[in-house]
Amino acid sequence: MKRIGILTSGGDSSGMNAAIRAIARSAMSAGLEAYGINYGFAGLVAGDIHQLSSIEMDGIIARGGTILYSARFPEFAEEKTQLKGIEQLKKFGIDALVVIGGDGSYHGAERLTQHGFNSVGIPGTIDNDIPGTDFTIGFDTAVNTAVEALDRINDTATSHQRVFVVEVMGRGAGDIALWAGVAAGADAIVIPERDYDIQAIAEKIKENRKNGKDHALIVIAEGVMSAADFKKQLDQYGEFDSRAITLGHIQRGGQPTAKDRVLASRFGDYAVKLLLEGKGGLAIGIRNNQLVATDIIDTLENHKHITDVSLQDVNKRLRF
Ligand code: ATP
Repeated sequence: MKRIGILTSGGDSSGMNAAIRAIARSAMSAGLEAYGINYGFAGLVAGDIHQLSSIEMDGIIARGGTILYSARFPEFAEEKTQLKGIEQLKKFGIDALVVIGGDGSYHGAERLTQHGFNSVGIPGTIDNDIPGTDFTIGFDTAVNTAVEALDRINDTATSHQRVFVVEVMGRGAGDIALWAGVAAGADAIVIPERDYDIQAIAEKIKENRKNGKDHALIVIAEGVMSAADFKKQLDQYGEFDSRAITLGHIQRGGQPTAKDRVLASRFGDYAVKLLLEGKGGLAIGIRNNQLVATDIIDTLENHKHITDVSLQDVNKRLRF
């Protein structure tokens, strides 16, 4: 093997650059060349491919986003488009590919492996919703960004005795809401994995008022409903002087935390090791702080990400 290709695909997340750097530098350490593919699978098919130098990797460990850009390219689900991608890889003399992205991107890597081109997937998404790993690249940074925002909101909620409903990202998984909610000391955390009772939350806020706490912070995952809709429903049960805030894309950018940088570095280095051993079709992950590589098809088809919903119970016991 002489050349390894790298692409980032799907929603970006902080720490993707650290993973790119780790793959490229680890490949170079092993005497290989690293090639960057811009714009995910779209750039692969278009042949937007260039050799990466070690100097280009300098400093990117600290930068959010992805220097290789990302793109949605649904056409890659078609076989003829996948074969075009392989043609491009061969044209550039690339022998194996590392795909950094979410489960959609994993499908792309899986299809290439099925066509005989070794590819491995590294989990990069802020939602933490990929099976086969306890944590994904970008989750920790997103949580820390959300916590900082929640702390700020809590200050003004306290000053004005208001109720704030704050929507964080997480379409199918409540991980960001749970971690950020517990860390910020939220009064309620609403997640897609569990039923919720808005009236009970309203009653709790009123009870708290009687006991001297006259503000509240509710964290809701976007997959449940918007903060604005939740606020509307909450207002039917009382006068809360409530406000709704959607944190949005600030959760996707910014300097990656040390935890995300280290995770991305370990994943990238491990991906190169596996490819050097001639392995492909694998999903890389971390479980109980151990790096793991599982069959990408089996991981996608037979396993689901399990959100630690017990954090919601912990939060209930710790709230006012
Ligand atoms: P996020 O979870 O952040 O949205 P993702 O990787 O799941 O990330 P998707 O938009 O679902 O994001 O997928 C990214 C890209 O992967 C798609 O635009 C497409 O190019 C490729 N892809 C998705 N599904 C398939 C598939 N079934 N076969 C081949 N390629 C696919």
